[in-house]
Amino acid sequence: MNVIVEKKALLSALHGAKELYPDEFTALFKGESKKGELRITDLLITPFAEYGRSRSSYSPWFVPSASGTVASFHSHPSGPALPSKQDLVFFATGYAVNFIATAPYDLRDVAAFDNKGKRVAFTLID
Ligand SMILES: [Zn+2]
Repeated sequence: MNVIVEKKALLSALHGAKELYPDEFTALFKGESKKGELRITDLLITPFAEYGRSRSSYSPWFVPSASGTVASFHSHPSGPALPSKQDLVFFATGYAVNFIATAPYDLRDVAAFDNKGKRVAFTLID
């Protein structure tokens, strides 16, 4: 699958991650998927998110089902941008593409993974 990310969406997510630092930040991305291409266009801050040093979570019940979310995003304030065991459990039941950003949260500090935790490449566009 070809993953295309609009830079403004990723910058919004990184901004949230910086704001919450040293706590973990979680959000979802909206976008559209068609013909083997996933295009990420907007950040959706999930209502009733809980943030914490070692974990963050949100209740999927509060995300409108028609919200068009296509990918997850969360930050790792310390440690590498690699999925933890817990992340892998979440990825397996969630989205096809999941982003992890690590401090200091620049564009180059972001990695994307599929729902099995395998790294996926993405292209940033303006
Ligand atoms: Zn994680």
